[in-house]
Amino acid sequence: MIAAPITVPVAEWKRHLCIPIDGLLSETAQAGVERALAWVNEHGCSWSFVSKPVNLAVEGDFIRLASGTQFTSRALAEKLRRGQARSAVAVACSAGPGVPAEIQRLWDAQRPDEAFFLNAAAAAATEQLLLRAQKSICDQVEPAGLAALPHESPGYDGWELGQQRTLLGLLAAQSAWPSAAKLSLLESGMLSPEHSQLALFGLGPSAVVETKSPDMVACARCSMDPCSYRRVPDAGDAQALPPPASSGAVANGYAYPDKALRRWSRELLTVDSRDEQSVRATFRPECKTCSNLGVPFGIDYSIELGSYRDGFPIRKLSCRPSDSDYQSMCSNLKDPEEFPCEMVRVPAFVDQPLVQVLEWDPAVEPAGCLCRPPARDHKWKIALQTVHYKLHTDE
Ligand code: SF4
Repeated sequence: MIAAPITVPVAEWKRHLCIPIDGLLSETAQAGVERALAWVNEHGCSWSFVSKPVNLAVEGDFIRLASGTQFTSRALAEKLRRGQARSAVAVACSAGPGVPAEIQRLWDAQRPDEAFFLNAAAAAATEQLLLRAQKSICDQVEPAGLAALPHESPGYDGWELGQQRTLLGLLAAQSAWPSAAKLSLLESGMLSPEHSQLALFGLGPSAVVETKSPDMVACARCSMDPCSYRRVPDAGDAQALPPPASSGAVANGYAYPDKALRRWSRELLTVDSRDEQSVRATFRPECKTCSNLGVPFGIDYSIELGSYRDGFPIRKLSCRPSDSDYQSMCSNLKDPEEFPCEMVRVPAFVDQPLVQVLEWDPAVEPAGCLCRPPARDHKWKIALQTVHYKLHTDE
């Protein structure tokens, strides 16, 4: 059950009120939804419940739980398989049994605006409850080396709504299930009261989940902040940034885990100058020669960008060694005339918006040296994605 009052970020209010992310939430609308949320907090009797983890096995589209419950879902089975999940946690949450009656009362009293705001507030509250439940799952399983996969619910694409009954049965069979919840199913399979939700979170090994694309990482759709376990930026946050002109909305398409980007942006990147018109940054990766026992050497990647309003167009890229130890690289030993020029070649991004670097997918080689083009592209890719990350997360 719920203790702390539910709060809802402005970006979520906009979504629930169908206001574009870069549109304005009027004072009247904000006051309306905040008042409605206060009602939910005070009178709605919101609640959520998280089951104990239950072991599972996946065969084709069948998910067999150790408790005896069995689900059939192509989407869920696929997700569990990809995340190598061997267990799952079920969740139920609800804005509370008092909400539908209050919405009806407001309609009956000819107060449609308030009814509309309460409906939006209850929907937003249910999502926040699910988010909190997700956080509690992450807090519980992360120390054991597990990570929550993005949840699935009956009614989502690839999982029939009819399976809501099976999921509710699984939850209601838990010894701690709150009998006062009074959650029931309508004939259609929808939950009563409205603004309630059931969900299942697969639990996969963190080391596996971290290697997956963002659609397999729950953090990509989780606005919990701060969270020390976060792996990738919240796509909602990225979209909440005013989109740079000519680049479209920023996509959550980093090639590296959040933890790595965060470290690189703190330890290897320096923003030398930044104002309304331009940004200059220097990335200093950890390089080592491939020969001569791996001698560390210094190389500076300079990145000059135009204004945020123009989508941070890439104005100039350059790269130069900061000491002479690069000369110990085997390619330099073989060709000391040509190699230094090869080594500092830059990718062809000039005049393109910075967001393009998220789509750049060259063959890369995670070597410490710069002998071969894929190793050089590897460094540039990290440098450019780290700059993008820094500028869009305000690290
Ligand atoms: S950010 Fe990631 S780890 Fe943190 S609560 Fe959300 S899903 Fe869990």
